[in-house]
Amino acid sequence: MKIAILGGGESGTGAALLAKHLGHEVFLSDGGSLKENYKAELLDKGIPYEEGKHTWTSIFEADEIIKSPGIPDDLPPLLDFRRQGKQVISEIEFAGRHTAATIIGITGSNGKTTTTRLTYHLLKTGGLNAAIGGNVGLSFARNIIENKYDHYVLELSSFQLDGIVTFRPHIAILLNITPDHLDRYEYKMENYVRSKFRIAMNQQPEDLLITNADDREIQDYLNVNQLAPRRIEISTHFSDKKIRWVGGSNPLIGRWEGTFDMTNSRLKGPHNFFNASCAIHAAKAVGVSDEAIQEGLNTFVNDPHRLEFVAEINGVEYINDSKATNVDSVFYALQAMEKPVVWIAGGTDKGNDYSPIEDLVRQKVKALICLGVDNEKLMGVFSPILKNIEEARSAKEAVERATIYAKSGDVMLLSPACASFDLFKNYMDRGDQFKAAVFEMMNVKC
Ligand code: ADP
Repeated sequence: MKIAILGGGESGTGAALLAKHLGHEVFLSDGGSLKENYKAELLDKGIPYEEGKHTWTSIFEADEIIKSPGIPDDLPPLLDFRRQGKQVISEIEFAGRHTAATIIGITGSNGKTTTTRLTYHLLKTGGLNAAIGGNVGLSFARNIIENKYDHYVLELSSFQLDGIVTFRPHIAILLNITPDHLDRYEYKMENYVRSKFRIAMNQQPEDLLITNADDREIQDYLNVNQLAPRRIEISTHFSDKKIRWVGGSNPLIGRWEGTFDMTNSRLKGPHNFFNASCAIHAAKAVGVSDEAIQEGLNTFVNDPHRLEFVAEINGVEYINDSKATNVDSVFYALQAMEKPVVWIAGGTDKGNDYSPIEDLVRQKVKALICLGVDNEKLMGVFSPILKNIEEARSAKEAVERATIYAKSGDVMLLSPACASFDLFKNYMDRGDQFKAAVFEMMNVKC
């Protein structure tokens, strides 16, 4: 078969390598520039490619196109290609056709990476032969080349799900649905919701869908649509640091009871306890023991910049939540804080409405350090609420200013609610500079 690949990032290159491995004739086309390491791999395997353009005449020779998630579905040539009765699919669809392993697919508007990494960690702690892929780590397709795993834990975006035809996760986790990427969905929430639910569209009655009992969009959809898989619906409310499952049934393994203690977990806040509950159910369903799950919860370290514990110095805890680039994320961060907060926020404001966090700020924040080029809006919103507000133009200065207010028993939280591009390269750079400033101070103080 002839296969054209559009987009040569990790998923496109992975798909190209798998397609070649399977004996297909492959051509990869990237409208931008390809990374050197991917080019080297393509050259090594003798896969022709182009960059900086799409030569549609060559692409149209293919029997099937594998499209990277970043490329919109409604590109006119893709519509033409489909009109010829040929398929445009995602790398997930392609890879999924070539494995008989158990697939745990995880999607949602928020919490995908955390839940994917945690689920993988629980499976590994339980001694299972598992791999992680999709939007985190290596692409699913690249993993399938060797196909030596029994379980794949995949983070799936709605764009990847838009390109599936037969892809069927045995266990699907749909965490939540809040407006996101609506520009790709004709600005219609129902289109985005439908896209997320594609994760369950090929599931069979013996499969499992783990989802959110308290998410309005999810529950509205479930009320009017019949789905094949058996379901577990998990509440997002937690009254203490215990995750309990009281005799409810997990359709794959029958009834079970369990209590898991989150006291020693680095995951903070009810939103993360919810993520953990989903991961626990998936792990249980593939046979991980309660003991291994508890050990996995205790030892899990999330990706950096997500409520990341940095250090404790003289009784002050430092937390880096630089990934929180919107108000929603700051809501969850503040909700997770159990100590008075010296809050560092600000950056490029994307039209934020801060009203959802005003109450939490009133309850929990003792000082705000505005870290941005233009702090006017943030200062305007919070000066009626907070007595202590300062400005800073670098991470180092922000930490120095914040230190004036942070006393033993407090937490210094970088959770910006804004993009980082005014002062930093990206959110990772911002988080790294924050951590460097904290460590520098630690060295000075020690
Ligand atoms: P994603 O991969 O979906 O972007 P992450 O796990 O990287 O998700 O988390 C990104 C941010 O989303 C976190 O900093 C947190 O603020 C928020 N978040 C995580 N889990 C949840 C959840 N279950 N519900 C709502 N928000 C969440």
